[in-house]
Amino acid sequence: DQALAELDPEIAAVLDGELTRQRETLEMIASENFVPRAVLQAQGSVLTNKYAEGYPGKRYYGGCEQVDIAENLAIERAKSLFGADYANVQPHSGATANAAVLHAIARPGDKVLGLSLPHGGHLTHGMKINFSGRLYDIAAYGVDEQTHRIDMDQVREQALAERPKVIIAGWSAYPRHLDFAAFRAIADEVGAYLWTDMAHFAGLVAAGLHPNPVPHSDVVSTTIHKTLGGPRSGMILSRDAEALGKKLDSAVFPGQQGGPLMHVIAAKAVALKVAAGEEFADRQRRTLEGAQIIAERLLEPAVREAGVSVLTGGTDVHLVLVDLRNSTLDGQQAEDLLHSAGITVNRNAVPFDPRPPRVTSGLRIGTPALATRGFGAAEFTEVADIIATTLTDGTAADLTSLRTRVKALTDAFPLYEGLQQ
Ligand code: PLP
Repeated sequence: DQALAELDPEIAAVLDGELTRQRETLEMIASENFVPRAVLQAQGSVLTNKYAEGYPGKRYYGGCEQVDIAENLAIERAKSLFGADYANVQPHSGATANAAVLHAIARPGDKVLGLSLPHGGHLTHGMKINFSGRLYDIAAYGVDEQTHRIDMDQVREQALAERPKVIIAGWSAYPRHLDFAAFRAIADEVGAYLWTDMAHFAGLVAAGLHPNPVPHSDVVSTTIHKTLGGPRSGMILSRDAEALGKKLDSAVFPGQQGGPLMHVIAAKAVALKVAAGEEFADRQRRTLEGAQIIAERLLEPAVREAGVSVLTGGTDVHLVLVDLRNSTLDGQQAEDLLHSAGITVNRNAVPFDPRPPRVTSGLRIGTPALATRGFGAAEFTEVADIIATTLTDGTAADLTSLRTRVKALTDAFPLYEGLQQ
């Protein structure tokens, strides 16, 4: 029974290298976070050995008495955290949760109306070569060309014209709250299901800092690993177990998946327990504060003069969308420059982007991971200044001095101190 470093030094080196990378850089990918040590422990546990097809109390395998407890805890914690009447914690990922949702409430060929990918939607909301785009008849709404916000009158008009079976609310890159009551009213008017994908903002909802889609939606899906800060995986919720519970359960298993990942489900239970606490709420408050500080810094006149701007003029959530359409830097160059300074972000198409999707004219900058690391207003002000300086100075930026400033921040907030992998 050898330790990893002995058995497989190459993979052990990858784990070491990645821990160092996470410790020594500023992680600002909006969909990433640092899980608590207790989550790492549950996920790296003997529960990975267990097959448990089925649901608690109704398994197709023996020996499920312990994993049943874990899954029931995860379900009850999820329901209580989001005020839901139903929860399925088995989806392996956000994408499989979304596949199960559509499997439950639509048939192949049915019309589905979601936010278009280049305007901030997700692949599973209807991208052409994704299962969603191949199996369903996709119609998309976009953001307004001037305000870059979703215009609910336009969504209504489109829903009336397209008569979809399912309307999707939710996004991967959109910096504002959605009007769930308006989505509900439109869905009722056209007789559609309303499905909200809150993958990005679930942590803010859990902390009471973002409107909760659960009371308004027929079904809500989410990932657990973005603002919610848990293991990489997905979950489905509903306000009404009677109406859709059986369909959703059977869409996940056996509709989409075989055996659930019980180690991940146990880790989800832990993360959901953490998310109900005051420390988590404080972290989400710092997440929002950080995003606002960055947006404000990037809206200053000197930055604007360098052709850098912030879509929608600010943010209500954990991310800022930087508009580089007037900058000499494209999204790829800006991502690379920040990477050289020690800050990890991702380039992102802006709506009506003139540059191709692999280059783009935008950046998506998120604050959840740094808030988890302990950053507050003072640190986010320094981060905002490093980003603003990098983007304004462009290729002339003094990367050595920027890297020194990044190192001062990472040194002051150690990550996973003493962790042995
Ligand atoms: N839904 C939304 C809105 C997302 O942003 C994402 C991931 O980026 C997903 C679903 C998919 O999650 P996963 O990567 O776990 O499949």
